[in-house]
Order: sequence, then C-alpha cells, then structure tokens
Amino acid sequence: MKRVKSILVLGGGSAGLITALTFRRMLPEVSVKLVHSPDIGVIGVGEGTTAVFPEHFFKVLGLPKDEFYRETSPTWKQGIKFVWGPRDHFFYTFDFQYDQKRQGMGMANGFYADDDCGLLDLPAALMQCGKAFASGPLGKPLINGQYAFHIENKRLVAYLEKICAASGVAISEDTFVEAERTENGVGDLVFQSGARRSADLVIDASGFRSELIGRTLGVSFKDFSTGLFCDRAWIGGWTRGDEPLHAYTTAETMDSGWCWQIEHEDWINRGYVYSSRFINDDEALGEFLRKNPKVSNEPRLVRFRSGRHDSGWVGNVVAVGNSSGFVEPLEATALAQLIYEVRWLIEVLRTEQMDPAQSAKDRYNEIVGRAWDEIRDFLAYHYRFNTRLDTPFWKHCRNETSLGDYEGFYQEYRRLGPAPETIRALPYKPNIYGIEGYLAMLVGMKVPHERTYQPGAGEIDLWNRHQRAMRTRAAAGVPSEKALAAIRSPHWSWS
Ligand SMILES: Cc1cc2nc3c(=O)[nH]c(=O)nc-3n(C[C@H](O)[C@H](O)[C@H](O)COP(=O)(O)OP(=O)(O)OC[C@H]3O[C@@H](n4cnc5c(N)ncnc54)[C@H](O)[C@@H]3O)c2cc1C
Repeated sequence: MKRVKSILVLGGGSAGLITALTFRRMLPEVSVKLVHSPDIGVIGVGEGTTAVFPEHFFKVLGLPKDEFYRETSPTWKQGIKFVWGPRDHFFYTFDFQYDQKRQGMGMANGFYADDDCGLLDLPAALMQCGKAFASGPLGKPLINGQYAFHIENKRLVAYLEKICAASGVAISEDTFVEAERTENGVGDLVFQSGARRSADLVIDASGFRSELIGRTLGVSFKDFSTGLFCDRAWIGGWTRGDEPLHAYTTAETMDSGWCWQIEHEDWINRGYVYSSRFINDDEALGEFLRKNPKVSNEPRLVRFRSGRHDSGWVGNVVAVGNSSGFVEPLEATALAQLIYEVRWLIEVLRTEQMDPAQSAKDRYNEIVGRAWDEIRDFLAYHYRFNTRLDTPFWKHCRNETSLGDYEGFYQEYRRLGPAPETIRALPYKPNIYGIEGYLAMLVGMKVPHERTYQPGAGEIDLWNRHQRAMRTRAAAGVPSEKALAAIRSPHWSWS
C-alpha cells in the first residue's frame, strides 16, 4: 500500500461526513474527496447520540458551540429512561451511578437501590425531576458533564456538509457503479457519470449498501442474531404540543420489541423496533399506532440486519458507519462507534507514519470488531433480563439470548451482587460501557443476586440524606425549554 496522502470517502451520510471532517482536522496534510449519490440519499434516521458526540465535536474537531446549536437545533439528552423490567422505569445515564460508593457507606450504590434507583447521580435525578441541567449563577443552566444530544439526522448532515466544504473536503455528487478488485483491495471507482476516482485509502461509508467492503470485496458478515432478534422498525411522529421536552430518550417495552421516543423541539419521534419472526409488519404497525395515537405522518418502515463485517479494513478499503456494521439503536451507539472507528484509524495511520503494515490493519480489525461485539453483548443484557412482558417474543428473549463474551460477568454479578469488584469478570479492558453500564442494566431490571446486604440504621439515615440532597439540587435545576431559551439569549456566552 502507498503512503496515505489522500482519501476518497464514498458516502455523504453522517458517517462519511464525520470521517471526512475528522481527517481534515486531525490529519490536515491528507487530501479528502467525498462522493455521494443524490439519487440514493441518506438513511435519514439516527437521532440520538451518546456523550462521545459532544466530546468529539467540540473538543477534538473544535467546532464552535454557538454555530453548532444554531445550525442543528439539538435538544439535550442526559441518558435513557427505560420502561423496562419490573420497576415502573429506571434511568441509564452517561455518568456514574453504580461504579461508586458514597462517603460513609459500607457498600457500592447498587446495594441500596432496591426500592428507588432514580436519585443515584445528578443526571438521573435531573431526569426524574424533569430538568436538563443543574442551575448555576443567576439561574443559568450549567451545561457541562456527560450529556448528549437528540439531533434531526437531515439537519446534522446539512450542517456537516457545510463544515466539510469549508474545511477543504472536495464534495461531488455521483453514483458509484463498480470497482475492480485488486491485490490491494480496489482499483479506480467507476461512477455513473463516467468519472473514475481513486485515492491512497478509500473509505466505504455507503450505509447499508456497503458498496465496497460488502458488495465489491465480499467480506463475510458476522450475524448478531444469536443475541439480537429485532430486524425492522416502524418510524413516525407528531408535532410537539404541550408535552414537556424531556432531556432523555425513552425506551419502552413493546409486545415484540421496544419503542423509542426522541425529543426534538418541535417534533416527537417514535420508532417501534421489532422482530419480524414474532409479529408481521401490519400487526406491528397496528400496535405502534394504538400505543401512539398522536402519530400524524405516514409511518416509514426500515429493515435492517444486526451484525458486522468480519474485517472493516481490507487492503486500501476501510468501512465505517452502517457500512461497517449495525445494531439496533437501543443505546444509540452508532455515531459513537463510528467516531471510535475513525479515531482508531487515524491513530493507526499516525503510528505507522501513514504507511500501515498488514499487522496494523489486523490490530485495527481486532479492536473495532471487539467493540462491535461488546455492543452486541451489552444490548443482549437488555433482552435477556427484561421481565416486564410475557409475550412470546420476550419469553424467547429470556430463554434464548446469548450474552456472548459477557456471560462470565453476569455469573460474577449473580454471586457478588452490584459490587464494582465484578469488574474482574469483564473479558476485555478498557471497554465501551465500563462496569457502570452492565450494573445499571442489572440493578435497573432488579436481576437477583445471591449476596444481599442489610445496611444499619446509621447508613440508612446517611443514604436518605444523600437522596434528599440530590433531589433538592435536581428540583432546582433548569428544564430543557428554559435552557434552550438561555443559550439563545444575547447575554449567553459559551466561554
Ligand atoms: C431505525 C434506526 C434507528 C437509528 N437510530 C440511531 C440513533 O438513535 N443514534 C445513532 O447514532 N444512530 C442511529 N442509527 C444509525 C444511523 O443510521 C447512523 O448512525 C448514521 O445515520 C450513519 O449512517 P451512514 O452515514 O452510515 O449511512 P447513510 O445515512 O445511509 O449514508 C450513506 C451514504 O452513502 C451514499 N451512497 C450509498 N450508495 C452509494 C453509491 N452507490 N454511490 C454513491 N453514494 C452512495 C448515500 O447517498 C449516502 O450519502 C439508526 C439506524 C436505524 C436503521
């Protein structure tokens, strides 16, 4: 392979554009061309992020916050409200609820969370109290910590296109037709216009079509259907009326899957992710509309398969985004995984002084593949332990879901309970969700464990005082509507 001085990105969805922009910002000496098809367009879904997104956009890419907010009109997300398991609901935040022990307490937080787990950290308490951020001086929102966004996909793509163009990415519209396979991956890419394009490294960001890594190179696909059974989604929504603007995504158990609620300022977006083995499309649409009678647009059906390509980097081709792999958006991880892929790719190129050896590509494939598999296994936890409904789908999930590489972690939890020491049983470190993610799901769903803990009266008193303090701080917080008004005020300054 030649030294990498140029890249060609095939695809102008969020994956292609974020990749192009990250290259321009982190490796400005590399020239970047991007080609996308106006006839095919973008998938147009994918609107929840994780806390990796603001960190990457503001700290790594250095995008100005005022411009970002103005152009994409995001709302904030402090985590996910799961209407899941035996509790009425529980919150999964981007902070630390379970991987910590409060001062003066004998055990980690999870041991005290049987009755109420809604006040374990500030983000959860804010969500519980209908607030987005804690309140700072003059009642202004303290927009900091581990928060994420809801952003309409088309707005994000339009904004990224503008920034890419301004950052020196050469963007063209054309439809890819074919490429010759060579010893080193692919040769020239041939387009509908007759143009032939090439570069030292070609990024396949063509979404589910996976034009290069899948269709041209025929890299095998690792199916995730041993742990994830859903394969379709109905998507619809309605214009926001007087509903409160929640600072969280809702994930609600449905008969044969689950339903998201994503909060935009003017629009509420719902999507029923289901398994076509357990419900047909018409029945799923019926359940979706029955439970969401306000849906006012024509619901749209999206089909998907969960899994990843065995190798994302083959020769001179690297797949990113949906072209590399896909899992349902239960944790809205797709953009975070994309950012992980791009940053590792750049890290490898830098370390290899832009001339990557096969061993470096192998290592990249191992790291990225492992991350995909961890996401699969983390989502499997959501399915295996959700006891909320006894429908055929959920019974099947409880009986048949494989926890993959994370079965051992569950066994250690069953023995010890929600103790941070269970980290010993995580198969790989570092990992994406940390022990925090697994404990949040297990305690949230009240999954039984052998060792329980009886706190003394003093400890209970101290715990209750902690809870009250958290509730008081959250209750004084700022709701999303007011926080949006604050950042639009002429007196607001991001610095
Ligand atoms: C139901 C559902 C819900 C989701 N929810 C979330 C979520 O909440 N959070 C999240 O992070 N992600 C979510 N995702 C994933 C989301 O789709 C991706 O995060 C994101 O949009 C990246 O898409 P992409 O750029 O890989 O693909 P796309 O948006 O499909 O872009 C593909 C690009 O390739 C171009 N292209 C394809 N073929 C050709 C060709 N032959 N010639 C030229 N150009 C071509 C297209 O024109 C387009 O520009 C969800 C996905 C689904 C299906």
